[in-house]
Amino acid sequence: MTVNETEVVVVGGGAAGLQAALVLARARRDVTVVDGGEPRNARARAVHNLAGHEGVAPACLLELARDDARRYGARIVRDAVTEARQDGSRWLLGLRGGDAWRARALVLATGVIEELPPVEGLDALWGGDVVSCPYCHGWEARDRPVAVVGTGERAWRQVLLLRRFTGDLALLTGGPAGFDGERLAFLRDAGVSVREEPIARVVAEEGRLSGVAFAGGDFLPRDVVFAATSRRQASALPAALGCEIDGAAVVTDRTGRTAVPGVWAAGSCADPALTVAGSAGHATTTAIAVNDALLDEDTGLTP
Ligand SMILES: Cc1cc2nc3c(=O)[nH]c(=O)nc-3n(C[C@H](O)[C@H](O)[C@H](O)COP(=O)(O)OP(=O)(O)OC[C@H]3O[C@@H](n4cnc5c(N)ncnc54)[C@H](O)[C@@H]3O)c2cc1C
Repeated sequence: MTVNETEVVVVGGGAAGLQAALVLARARRDVTVVDGGEPRNARARAVHNLAGHEGVAPACLLELARDDARRYGARIVRDAVTEARQDGSRWLLGLRGGDAWRARALVLATGVIEELPPVEGLDALWGGDVVSCPYCHGWEARDRPVAVVGTGERAWRQVLLLRRFTGDLALLTGGPAGFDGERLAFLRDAGVSVREEPIARVVAEEGRLSGVAFAGGDFLPRDVVFAATSRRQASALPAALGCEIDGAAVVTDRTGRTAVPGVWAAGSCADPALTVAGSAGHATTTAIAVNDALLDEDTGLTP
């Protein structure tokens, strides 16, 4: 097996990984991105809240970002890192396709996965008429019939945000809402209809949401559903490397450094709440910290 040498491997080529690669390549580091090609927003119609690229298609944005990183010499490999182990002072990575890469530093930019509530029909419309983030997609849902599907704190926050976008908002919990009397009274006074009966399915017509069918036979016409999703790490790699995982996040310091020497985490895998712009910003900080650490290492002196 041939082992390819590079200074930094970035695992993941979404907004965070490609931004880290751009910063490192422009700092004249030899950087290799290994990307499985499944960014979290792949099925979204557009990327919003990204000044300068507002409304761009997700695939188009990443194509531009790959071109930018390549322009400064970054390599981008379409594959998945399936194993990683320490090899002296280096990291040795095995890829699903059989290649291997050895690197001085590792940047994990592997993202998170959003788990939908277990309601039939949600997944088929995910990224289109079923979304989760009101900051990203609330504007497009303004003044339209909207439902939040799910329970817990996430559903509560979604309702608080979305009632600023539409006066026709329903919270569909599929069972007991689990909110105290004060919250339920607030929702009632705010004109949010809370329906706790079991949900049969989310119904689509010609690929667009038409509404929500309840197990009892009722049908609620809706244009958009915000699902109260939960998040988890997209890759088993951070945990396999020995990184601490807290909830859905890889634990790092402010610069993205994990407790595992030579391993950093950038973007949403380190902070699952980060947007595209936030992930790229976080990755910039991380890339600078990685380069700083390599500069110290280059001197051979104790920092
Ligand atoms: C439906 C939807 C719509 C959204 N809309 C918006 C929006 O409008 N605006 C906004 O700012 N944010 C939006 N987001 C959030 C946005 O998707 C995230 O903020 C962003 O994708 C985080 O970037 P990231 O690089 O950290 O992770 P990701 O974009 O998820 O990229 C991670 C990459 O790592 C790769 N990977 C994982 N494991 C491995 C491995 N072992 N080996 C190799 N590669 C690996 C994956 O294949 C993927 O390509 C949306 C999210 C969803 C789900």
